[in-house]
Amino acid sequence: MTDSRPVRVRFAPSPTGGLHLGGVRTVLYNYLFARQHNGTFVLRIEDTDQTRFVTGAEEYILNCLEWCGLSPDESVAKPGLYGPYRQSERKSDYWQYADLLIESGHAYYAFDTPEELDAMRETFKTADNPSPQYDRHTRMQMRNSLSLGAEATQTLLDDGTPYVVRVKMPSSGTVAFNDAVRGEVRFDLALVDDKVLLKRDGMPTYHLAVVVDDYLMEITHAFRGEEWLPSAPVHVFLWEALGWNAQMPQWAHLPLILGPDGAKLSKRHGAKYGFPIFAMNWTDPKTGEPTEGFRERGFLPEAFLNSLALLGWNDGSGDEIFTLPELIAKFSLDRVAASGAVFDYEKAKWVNQQHLLKLSDADLVANVKPFLETSGLQASDADLLKVLPVIKERCHLLSDFYEQCRFFFQAPEAPDADALRAKWTDKAAAFFESYATVLEAQPTLTESEAAAGFEAALAAAGIKKGEAMLPLRVMLVGGKFGPDLFFILSHIGGPEAAARIRTVRNLLS
Ligand code: GLU
Repeated sequence: MTDSRPVRVRFAPSPTGGLHLGGVRTVLYNYLFARQHNGTFVLRIEDTDQTRFVTGAEEYILNCLEWCGLSPDESVAKPGLYGPYRQSERKSDYWQYADLLIESGHAYYAFDTPEELDAMRETFKTADNPSPQYDRHTRMQMRNSLSLGAEATQTLLDDGTPYVVRVKMPSSGTVAFNDAVRGEVRFDLALVDDKVLLKRDGMPTYHLAVVVDDYLMEITHAFRGEEWLPSAPVHVFLWEALGWNAQMPQWAHLPLILGPDGAKLSKRHGAKYGFPIFAMNWTDPKTGEPTEGFRERGFLPEAFLNSLALLGWNDGSGDEIFTLPELIAKFSLDRVAASGAVFDYEKAKWVNQQHLLKLSDADLVANVKPFLETSGLQASDADLLKVLPVIKERCHLLSDFYEQCRFFFQAPEAPDADALRAKWTDKAAAFFESYATVLEAQPTLTESEAAAGFEAALAAAGIKKGEAMLPLRVMLVGGKFGPDLFFILSHIGGPEAAARIRTVRNLLS
């Protein structure tokens, strides 16, 4: 990289709703690159489109980044020397640069009303070109400072006629830039339309604001999703028109994230396949519609990031489990693929389990406890320290622990007695009654005492172990799952076990 300036990267979301996992992947790659180069990670809120503004979205984005452990070095909450960090607070800057572009002939005033724009599209529509653009072919037929001349333009301006400022794209030539993921990218400038730079409401559009802000904030590297690649020629053209070539950031357009059906991942996929799309729970303030996040589904933040890191990147070794410091050490743009990456929810769950298994017992308890409490289960840390490590292999998500451990603390609500009916005999009923009586007298028992007591009861009744194990499991746990039965017995104690045995025995008789 030839740029010798200190590395400054940015994530520039529009506060329009929940933070999509693709957005977090963009944050992550920016963050890893910044940390690798002792650089600065900036969060800039791109809120110039007032029609799409959503209350609460900005705070939500900040909270998501904090949960992920990717807090920005500079943001609205932590301003540095390059503020404002909210575009709507920078209006005068954009006017100043729009004026420069008009003076140098790279932009012009356009007074067309929405009706005139519609009429233009109707007039110029052909079979080959069903949606004509405002561009070199059409601009001279429209009402703008190029077609009207200086005097008429000044009159309209003096009269307070509403206008926008449009970029004047050249009629020929190409724009080329080097993309860190895609190599050299070239666009034919003649195909690009005269995009609006300043709107009638006085706000800049994204195209002007992103260029001016990246320049003023001395952004050295701009990594963003592939969906912004079609906008890149306008941005590069503006960088050049403003004479800022030497300061233009290094671009990287990150691969699209795809759903299981190969289409660009969207909320629709989440609903269809039952996985989260947003980092954290999000409730649309207009419709009240809630959307579950990865956090609430039971992902550890580091595991969530690990999964996202793998969407388009690998370290070449075949390793797939990385901590954040490991990702900082290993990440490189050279190994980011240009082709789309399919999000695999089952794999994300597996990655989460790998991170769960690495937690210390105390950290496991601290992470799982809030999920148990949400499900209505209160348990002491001492009990959870005993129980959770034994069941963690059976859990992928923090939210899986409740089902896998509730029977340590509560009798099963609806034990699956039907699963036992086919093989249930009078002999079995007699055995479990006598075994319940034995257990009743043993308020505390160790695992080995529980095992020995069970063997003795089997021998006395002449029942084979294989015949009694599954019924005992269903009685204690509620279904055909769970860890070692004698460990469960040692935890719940004899009287509670006896009561659970009798409940199921009664259901069966
Ligand atoms: N505001 C754009 C967004 O919402 C930023 C795109 C960019 O990084 O240039 O993603």
